[in-house]
Amino acid sequence: MKEVLLLKDGELALKGLNRSTFEDILVKNCKRRLARLGKFTFTKSQSTMIVEPNQPDIDLDEAAAIIRKVFGIVGYSRAAVCEKELPTICCIAQDYLADELQNIHTFKVEAKRSDKKFPFTSPEICREVGGYLLSKNKNLSVDVHHPEMTVTVEIRDQYAFIHGNQKKGAGGMPVGTNGKAMLLISGGIDSPVAGWMMAKRGIALSAVHFASPPYTSKRAEMKVHELLSKVAEYSGRIKLYTVHFTDIQEAIRDHCPEDTFTLIMRRHMMRIASALAEKDGASALITGESVGQVASQTIYALGCTDQAASLPVFRPCIGLDKTEIIDISRAINTFETSIQPYEDCCTVFTPKHPKTKPTPALLQEVESVFDWTELLNQAIATAKEEWITQEEGI
Ligand code: ATP
Ligand code: MG
Repeated sequence: MKEVLLLKDGELALKGLNRSTFEDILVKNCKRRLARLGKFTFTKSQSTMIVEPNQPDIDLDEAAAIIRKVFGIVGYSRAAVCEKELPTICCIAQDYLADELQNIHTFKVEAKRSDKKFPFTSPEICREVGGYLLSKNKNLSVDVHHPEMTVTVEIRDQYAFIHGNQKKGAGGMPVGTNGKAMLLISGGIDSPVAGWMMAKRGIALSAVHFASPPYTSKRAEMKVHELLSKVAEYSGRIKLYTVHFTDIQEAIRDHCPEDTFTLIMRRHMMRIASALAEKDGASALITGESVGQVASQTIYALGCTDQAASLPVFRPCIGLDKTEIIDISRAINTFETSIQPYEDCCTVFTPKHPKTKPTPALLQEVESVFDWTELLNQAIATAKEEWITQEEGI
């Protein structure tokens, strides 16, 4: 039986030119993600995108699993393709949906007729197909208000499509419709979630990780690779910059008061990330910060961090509780990787009593005792660049 995927795209409020850009980018993203399974043809038809495999051996389960993670799709269905003959439609609906129909009690049939020449009206199609399914499944009754399954019959120009309940898509906007931003990724729980949340709004990602060997290990870097590869299942491939941060951290330890260590470190992260983002064509930074979570994330500390960045800083987790962030990290499958216990550079030289009410003026004064230019330039110039794709793993 020939099958297709039917995709419903989101953000229906978008009109005119915006809408066609949105759809073009969505199709490009789907094609790129599905490419490893084989070739597909995409046809736009009203508010539905029809995705048709061009080879018979393509695994549509796998294709659906990929599509489920593409932002910009609010719902999708796997549908049987069938000749436009009412008796054939009845038989195929029964064959195609038999397993699901056996396990439920209530259903209804919905008909959509874009081919107005089809000799039966929508109510006639519903009656005919509904009656046939009732005759074949004694467990079923019709419930037009709250059915467990809606069997949809779509009569198109060339074929009819038959499918069961539409599945929920990833929602959001196609990645690439809203520019690019650079994610500061630490290996913890919050930053992969932050990257995922911004990618969901159509922002393409690049990423920067600060590593401080020998205080931090190679395993910590591999953990970041694994986290990014999981985010890349949603966002598409991500260029990662790994910055050698040891010299800067040691200089902070040697020249700054202990209670400002973390804050100065975070300000230098912002400076380096801003420079790398500009080089990479990214227009904003993204962090996993959440207000009040730790001393470096008080409202005062965040203000001081912001001041060192030369680009806008997006903090999508800012108003979320840790439990809410964890719920998202479980849903996107980053949680188990995030909780692996490898040292992050943030835990190197951590002050016992960090300042919680710093001011930019105080931190500027603390920073002025040392000329950081050379170390910063060196960290930027020597950052290692690599592409992380969805297939990467530890
Ligand atoms: P996370 O769970 O994302 O590690 P966190 O609650 O542990 O966050 P911090 O360690 O204070 O918080 O870091 C705050 C944010 O700073 C992180 O979400 C991340 O965006 C950025 N960050 C921290 N450490 C690094 C690092 N080594 N490399 C890149 N970014 C980092
Ligand atoms: Mg952290």
